[in-house]
Amino acid sequence: MRYEGQIYRPPCEARSLVVQATIGCPWNRCTFCGMYKDRKFRVRPLDETLRDLQAARAAYPHVASLFLADGNTIALPTADLLAILERASALFPELDHVGAYGGARYLAGAPADSTRPAGRGLPGTKSVAELATLREAGLSMVYMGLESGDDEVLRRVRKGVTSAQMITAARRLKEAGFPVSLYVLVGLGGSDRSQAHARATAEAINAIEPDIVRPRTLYILEQTPLWHQRRRGDFVEAAPRGALLEIRTLLEGIRVPVALVSDHITNYLPLHGCLPRDRADLIAAIDRTLAAEDLSSLRPQHFDHL
Ligand code: SF4
Repeated sequence: MRYEGQIYRPPCEARSLVVQATIGCPWNRCTFCGMYKDRKFRVRPLDETLRDLQAARAAYPHVASLFLADGNTIALPTADLLAILERASALFPELDHVGAYGGARYLAGAPADSTRPAGRGLPGTKSVAELATLREAGLSMVYMGLESGDDEVLRRVRKGVTSAQMITAARRLKEAGFPVSLYVLVGLGGSDRSQAHARATAEAINAIEPDIVRPRTLYILEQTPLWHQRRRGDFVEAAPRGALLEIRTLLEGIRVPVALVSDHITNYLPLHGCLPRDRADLIAAIDRTLAAEDLSSLRPQHFDHL
């Protein structure tokens, strides 16, 4: 097995075999993201990825779950993804899950005013038919970062897509038969945009009707563009009280049934439940926390492993 750079995967993929099909992120411009800033994006040669799968078969007697790293692996040409999925199924008959990150930019295309191509040699979009073929070939989850439903926030953080494109991308996944799991980044709007960010994000979720919403809370990593903006005073964090109020507004605004999975260490509260059933209890938990005067001990201080 060969790994290049720090490996990132969703917390729920902790038990998965991780194989890099791409190195880095083809976009790599989001101001809050520090994941792949140390590497230049490239697609790994297909035979290298296939050989890694073969090596994993020799090393591990049981592989039930596979995660295809790095960021936005969904951007690979469909034929390459199919070749990887087919080889994985053949090598690991016990496999029952394959996950990958997939941004809206690579699912539904980039905005017309985009200043950067999708990535050299990458198609930049996937049709519903292509996604359905991938689903049938064994890809079971595409983790998509909605981050915000607010176009102003998405513009400020250089996400490279609009809220409408986020909605199109997620609905495309849904139509292709994928469960839809969305990351939402609480605090991304800063103090001035906090509530607008929460309201617009709830509306995007209502339009998408995802299966799972996974809130993470903004933690500004050193040397990211957002870290520099904060140092210059161009970004003021809403945390922690503002972040809790934000998630309260988000919960109030979601009108569709959805599972809330708070599986990230950055979150101030472990809020798990199903909406609308658990809404009142979740809001009550937030209100109890907000009633405390000092919220400074809510978040662990050591995030070295983020
Ligand atoms: S948040 Fe996702 S799309 Fe943005 S730079 Fe990071 S990995 Fe790439």
